Amino acid sequence: MFNPDELSVLGRQIAGLASSFDALPAYRENNNLAQIETVLQALSAKMADNYPYFHPFYLGQMLKPPHPIARLAYSLCLYINPNNHALDGGRATSALEKEAVADIARMFGWLDHLGHLTSGGTFANLEALWVAKNIAPGKSVAASELAHYTHERISRVLDIKFDKIPCDARGRMDVAALETRLREGEIGTVVVTLGTTLAGTLDPLDAILALRKTYDFRIHIDAAYGGYFSLCKMVTADSRRAMASIVQADSIVVDPHKHGLQPYGCGCVLFRDPAVGSYYKHDSPYTYFSSDELHLGEISLECSRPGAAAGALWATQKLLPLTPDGEFAAALQCSRDAAMSLFQWLALDKDCVTVLEPTLDIVLWLMASDSAKKSSALAQTVFDNAAALNLHLALARVPKKLLADKIAPDSAFWDDDDVVCLRVCLMKPAHKTWLPTIQQHLRAAMTAAHADIQTRQPAEVGQDGER
Ligand SMILES: *Cc1c(COP(=O)(O)O)cnc(C)c1O
Repeated sequence: MFNPDELSVLGRQIAGLASSFDALPAYRENNNLAQIETVLQALSAKMADNYPYFHPFYLGQMLKPPHPIARLAYSLCLYINPNNHALDGGRATSALEKEAVADIARMFGWLDHLGHLTSGGTFANLEALWVAKNIAPGKSVAASELAHYTHERISRVLDIKFDKIPCDARGRMDVAALETRLREGEIGTVVVTLGTTLAGTLDPLDAILALRKTYDFRIHIDAAYGGYFSLCKMVTADSRRAMASIVQADSIVVDPHKHGLQPYGCGCVLFRDPAVGSYYKHDSPYTYFSSDELHLGEISLECSRPGAAAGALWATQKLLPLTPDGEFAAALQCSRDAAMSLFQWLALDKDCVTVLEPTLDIVLWLMASDSAKKSSALAQTVFDNAAALNLHLALARVPKKLLADKIAPDSAFWDDDDVVCLRVCLMKPAHKTWLPTIQQHLRAAMTAAHADIQTRQPAEVGQDGER
């Protein structure tokens, strides 16, 4: 789970940091370690009630362990506990935040930008849509039906009209449907998801950008999960074109706490035009702001923010720079390779029907059966069987539409509008080398599920499907 030497490295660096303040009169925190340890022991026992997110056998939800350097850097910063709301509260970490955020902007091809870290993707998206509302008051926000549910909810919070655009059979925003809506003249901003949370699909950003020749609208990219994959070689021409067009967007959200190896509490919002900083400022709305002139509290809706998050991100990017040929990108590539191998293995399995070839590192499949309800029940059984073997998967309801090229929409299979599928996120680079062991356990879980279903009566299977 962790290398105990980590803590001696941390101890040395905390001592070094403490010595920088030697000019102050000696001061020692009054802490009773015996009492602290008693409580920590109770906490440690409680923390055992978790899925093993740190282990390659956990491949369920989008959870990726922070890199050891992020963990250590965060802990080191906590001994100062800076607040990046303002320079007063966090001088050093404010500078580190600007540097780290500029590196993320450069990863997307932006040499100039305005941006900062947030508590997560939700708040980062909220700021982007809030700026969009300021720029085009009264206009609506459009996003694909596979966009993160947060956009619809944020739009309600901000009192912006929300327009849900259908996706095509490949899980990408339907550009023709978007154009029909754009023609009505109501849409002010289109949210383009690069890496949908369900399936990792990319909206066709290049085609959506092309619509700006005819219609006037902003483009906000939600790359909370998928953004870092812009460092990797995409397999299909479609995804290469989408990723290569990011530079032309107006705002971008990416979550360092999703694929950027950070502990939770680290999202990032970027604006291409630094002048949008004026919307954050109430007393002088027409000043021109360059990103260097403002301190972070003036360009963020959140006030107190952890300087430790900036320190951790900065340190991680020092160790693992965001370059296409670096170790960080190579690790992401391992996740993609693992997803592709698992997909190919499942595609050859007569018990499974794969849903979409993976674009990033999410794999989705359903259990072969003669009806959607039975298939859903089987998926639940596979999920339970795998968990009993310590292999942790996830379940997701997949709409009929995304299976159109595998199961005809009018097929007798469809006794339900969607089907429960198995879903895995192969976010840890170690998933690549662990794949053979993972497949062995998965095979056992699927074989047992089929044996189980064959010995039961169809009525029982139906009831299972209601769970
Ligand atoms: C995770 C995610 C979000 C929400 O981000 P949080 O960091 O969980 O608040 C938004 N959009 C997409 C595409 C995501 O994957």
